[in-house]
Amino acid sequence: MPNQYVLALDQGTTSSRAILFDRQGNVVARAQKEYEQLYPQAGWVEHNPMEILYSQMNALELVLGEIKGRVNLRDIACMGITNQRETTILWDKQTGRPVYNAIVWQCRRTADMCEQLKRDGHEPLIKQRTGLVVDAYFSGTKIKWILDNVPAARELAEQSRLLFGTVETWLIWNFTGGQSHVTDYSNASRTMLFDVDKLCWDEELCALLGVPMHILPKVVPSGAMHGELAQGLIGLTELAGVPITGAIGDQPAALFGQACFSPGMAKNTYGTGCFLLMNTGTKRVQSQHNLLTGVAWSLGDEITYAIEGSAFNAGSVIQWLRDELKLVDSAERCGELAESVDSANGVYLVPAFTGLGAPYWDMYARGTMVGLTRGVNRAHIARAVIECIPWQLCDLLAAMEADAGIKFTELRVDGGASVSDIMMQLQADFSQANVNRPRVTETTALGAAYIAGLTAGVWNSKDEIEQNRQVDRVFVPQLPRQQRNELYAGWQKAVQRSLAWVES
Ligand code: ADP
Repeated sequence: MPNQYVLALDQGTTSSRAILFDRQGNVVARAQKEYEQLYPQAGWVEHNPMEILYSQMNALELVLGEIKGRVNLRDIACMGITNQRETTILWDKQTGRPVYNAIVWQCRRTADMCEQLKRDGHEPLIKQRTGLVVDAYFSGTKIKWILDNVPAARELAEQSRLLFGTVETWLIWNFTGGQSHVTDYSNASRTMLFDVDKLCWDEELCALLGVPMHILPKVVPSGAMHGELAQGLIGLTELAGVPITGAIGDQPAALFGQACFSPGMAKNTYGTGCFLLMNTGTKRVQSQHNLLTGVAWSLGDEITYAIEGSAFNAGSVIQWLRDELKLVDSAERCGELAESVDSANGVYLVPAFTGLGAPYWDMYARGTMVGLTRGVNRAHIARAVIECIPWQLCDLLAAMEADAGIKFTELRVDGGASVSDIMMQLQADFSQANVNRPRVTETTALGAAYIAGLTAGVWNSKDEIEQNRQVDRVFVPQLPRQQRNELYAGWQKAVQRSLAWVES
């Protein structure tokens, strides 16, 4: 077997990255380009779509520079793309020019529109068809906003010249010289316009939001031939003809990159917030706890669904301790302090800085610290900060198990805060399950590479991929279940104290 390599593009919210992987899943070369965040008004977040494209091309060019003389470019079998989900771009297919900036997933400008949809009683239908709650995150209301507010968008739509895409669609369209206007099932699942059971755009929902169906991309499996890199891409001419055989949203990509291939396997990414996904197999779960469900990936005829929940504040709580309270000068120091005591001494911190998400869904909740006594010191507070992250995960996991009727088997972890041994040990103790941290933590890019490589024949089966996964460390529960249950009861009581704190 000759050396074969797979290129992965990871188009994230703050940077565009390109990584070359070998057949063993090792990183051969990587490059990253940050790009500008635009905040035109309070609560609004935009990116310049051309900057997204150029930063991504630039990162790729840097990787090419890095591997020059080391890797024969003919041995690059294929490319996979993973992306920030939901971010919405509309462009003119004749000129390739966007009609407006990309409206980023975090942007809250359509919150009122979403409230109106709920008041008008549309949420049950939307939930049932799309697996989503009605929220400004998703692309549907962002498309409507652009059509309603940018006259050029309306005009181009009337002339059938307008195209919509999430970020992977935009990149693929540009990389293929405008040949391919496609999205994969995982990204389509986040638009609020896609029927996740029938696997097609939903006419009724498109009509409800006034989205003309002809602007929507063709929906294809995550692992599929999405097109070939065109001739004449600036700086990338040597890659002309490389097939793009994988595209998948960032969180499901990480689930795949963690080799969570069987129902009940779950991964959590510990970043600013937490993103927890559990594989539910070929079964689409209808959540009773306002968790989200959708297609995680599709390879050929095989469709895998996932259930998803997130905590808004995770690593950000550690930043708060460092930057606002100035109790520690680094995230590592927070872990050391937490480790210097053997409990939080009865203190719980509920980090409801921006309200609480699943399973509580209370936008009026606010951050709360309870259980303070005269003996509490800064180490106990640091410990309560570290502990609140695994506790939030316990709530999400319990909701997922109840919804899916599946007992989760093991939690696989990644993201910036997963380097914290103490936090991972507490996660194992609190969730009474093994916590498994891989050696390669670039799981998102790796997931895209695996999807692309499986489709192109670099890997023959998911078993081969599973064998590639190298464990850095497995954290095994050490806390007796009885003790854990008592502590968890305290957490749940603390959460109750944080609910409905502000009036509006
Ligand atoms: P994002 O992708 O959301 O920007 P990252 O995956 O880069 O986030 O993770 C950054 C987060 O990880 C920060 O919020 C930081 O507080 C946390 N973090 C970084 N190092 C540590 C550490 N040693 N212990 C605990 N948390 C950490």
